Amino acid sequence: PRSADFVVVANRLPVDRKKNKDGSQGWKTSPGGLVTALKPVVQAHGGAWIGWGGSADEHIDPFTFDGHGVVPVDLSSDEVAEYYEGMSNTTFWPLYHDCVEHPEYHREWWETYLEINERFARAAAEIASPGATVWVQDYQLQNVPALLRSMRPDLKIGFFLHIPFPPIELFMQLPWRFQVIDGLLGADIVGFQEPGSAHNFVRLGRRLGGLRTYRDKLFTTDGRTVTAKAYPISIDSQELLDLSRTPEAREIARQLRDDLGNPERIFLGVDRLDYTKGLRHRVQAFGELFTSGQLDPLNNVYLQVATPTREGVRRYQILHRDIDEMVGRINSQSGRIGRTPIQYRYSSYPKLALAAMYRAADVMVVSPLRDGMNLVAKEYVAAHDSDDGALVLSEFAGAALELTQAYMVNPYDVNGMKNQILRAAGDSHANHARRMRAMRKQVFKHDIEAWAGSFLSDLGSVPDPQ
Ligand code: UDP
Repeated sequence: PRSADFVVVANRLPVDRKKNKDGSQGWKTSPGGLVTALKPVVQAHGGAWIGWGGSADEHIDPFTFDGHGVVPVDLSSDEVAEYYEGMSNTTFWPLYHDCVEHPEYHREWWETYLEINERFARAAAEIASPGATVWVQDYQLQNVPALLRSMRPDLKIGFFLHIPFPPIELFMQLPWRFQVIDGLLGADIVGFQEPGSAHNFVRLGRRLGGLRTYRDKLFTTDGRTVTAKAYPISIDSQELLDLSRTPEAREIARQLRDDLGNPERIFLGVDRLDYTKGLRHRVQAFGELFTSGQLDPLNNVYLQVATPTREGVRRYQILHRDIDEMVGRINSQSGRIGRTPIQYRYSSYPKLALAAMYRAADVMVVSPLRDGMNLVAKEYVAAHDSDDGALVLSEFAGAALELTQAYMVNPYDVNGMKNQILRAAGDSHANHARRMRAMRKQVFKHDIEAWAGSFLSDLGSVPDPQ
């Protein structure tokens, strides 16, 4: 690929392998919101996307695909273990999600993390044209902004954190806390999911970094101004609604209701099987509702999709086992003949199948212990194409700041959650309609395109570096 004046740097490339009809290997665009949002921008600029291809110990040469450059960063299996599964997913992930599980700190992981961040930064430095804009994504690449700036002071650099940024009291634990702050401060704009995270970062810059700050600005020791601001990410709302209205989605939804025994009510959860998603508490709440008879297993079903994720990491294996056991126990205690109240699906579904589930679900339950945004909540609102749905939503999801008409829960409070689930299920049609309409308005106005547009327009107005 040629040099590019717009570059995205993300852990993963926006393409997946596919087999061509003649049996040769090709590429296809990856599903997912970030790719949907940024691909058109990258295409419009003839830009480039830098990322890992997803398999270890494999070398891929840069290539052009669908009007943009694809620049793979190679990782060995040791590097995947230390940079990705280790430092990213066993240190930063739990630390930034309120330490709902203990973060582990290993010096070798950190060394590898820095090395890999440098590799990504170098790839960006090589391909970015003079004065180009580079947008770095997420917690796997927090040191890329400063590394890249030291290589290429002429660039405009944005960074967006897709997960929460923790309070200073937790961040302080990190043995490499100063390096991480300095890494992020290499950007001109550091974007967060919600204002609380942005405030945490400004406060950290002041208290730990000793910087002068004013409102959402931090003034670095080398004379630059860094803005820390919230840009809540979203979904392609229209696309999802269109999908849920297709004959295929209607048919899948009908089939699903049939398979579940045409219950009066379907409760739905859709999550990666991650300990931040609050599954233990949620399954506990439904278990108590079913065994006590407050929800009658004869006419209520709780369908839980749990997508396999990070299966190489021990905490995830334990969670997988725990949830299997809980579901099995509850179903054997509260099932009726021919009825299984918790329908648990450990598997990953395409968007069409999800759209059909959202359509079919009377009550969607989203109860993470901490979540940067939670797109599933927004997807339910966009795809549940009638006024009779209800969303039960954790206060600790970024989405709660926008979907204020949801039935809010503190996911740690199992009794409170049980009450809200019952309330959401039993509320009047008028209340359901009022709440769903308000939330739908929000999700259609603030979609993924608006998200990328507002970040990039702010980045565009940053003064050129001297
Ligand atoms: N998703 C999917 N198939 C599945 C489960 C989830 O495509 O079987 C998608 C879902 O539609 C959503 C994303 O994965 O767009 C999950 O995003 P979210 O912000 O809810 O949680 P994350 O997994 O990023 O923590």
